[in-house]
Amino acid sequence: MIIDSHAHYAHKRFEGEFPYLNDQNGSYTIERADREALFAQMYNKGIIGTIEPSIGFDQIENQLSLSSETPIRIWQAVGVHPTRCIDTPWKNRTKVSAYAEACSPVAIGETGLDFHHSREKQRRLRQYLWFVHHLRLADRLQLPLVLHIRKADRYALPILKRYRSRLHGGVVHCFSGDPATAEAYISLGFALGIGAKLLCRDEQANDLCETVKRVPLCALLAETDAPYVLPEREDVSCDSKKQYEKLRNSSLILPAVIRKIAELRGEAYETVEHAVYENTVRVFRLQI
Ligand SMILES: [Zn+2]
Repeated sequence: MIIDSHAHYAHKRFEGEFPYLNDQNGSYTIERADREALFAQMYNKGIIGTIEPSIGFDQIENQLSLSSETPIRIWQAVGVHPTRCIDTPWKNRTKVSAYAEACSPVAIGETGLDFHHSREKQRRLRQYLWFVHHLRLADRLQLPLVLHIRKADRYALPILKRYRSRLHGGVVHCFSGDPATAEAYISLGFALGIGAKLLCRDEQANDLCETVKRVPLCALLAETDAPYVLPEREDVSCDSKKQYEKLRNSSLILPAVIRKIAELRGEAYETVEHAVYENTVRVFRLQI
């Protein structure tokens, strides 16, 4: 059994029919379906659920309605994504808190700092304000965090250290850093969300491969960030860049991620699949 520890199925890219990526025993295929059919296919492949973090505040309602239309379990996380902070009125923080109190999410997020997409001081300041708001909210509700940290580890880690006694675990999603950075988050009680970045061939993947080899298995979760973070274009044999850009990542590629983790660590596929499942249940305290 597999749980996708990070996917966005409420995203508008999953409305109507869409092309999505599947993994067929080691090779990728591109298929078309609507969300309901994709969920049925995931269920048949043993992907029994996903954690659905918020991106934008406007999307939370949409996100909550998802749970009723599917055989798979969708556990919610509530928050404002770092790149959406600038467009979200600061006064809406009370609404976000109210949602989090009303809908019993399993986590707060995604939240953190994204200094790759946001370079202006004003945007970064907004992200910082929301990040701290989410940290306090998660503490009040005793919930784990879904962290999105991009090109900002050296700014996020001191904040997390300051709040160390008020943290309740969580995951650094789409982690791609080196072993030292991984260790810094793990020592604060966070797991690492490993997705398709591990399947890439650029230099950054070397650091990540090293991390995946060295950290304890109990610190690893598997994720896709669907519809985003696809494996490399050459590997999914897209005819054109345009076709690749239209393609949605899906939780169906999780066996490829697990296979790569197992290969790097010299462990059996089944061992890693079982461990990442148990880790996800533990981190988010899921009631299965
Ligand atoms: Zn995400």
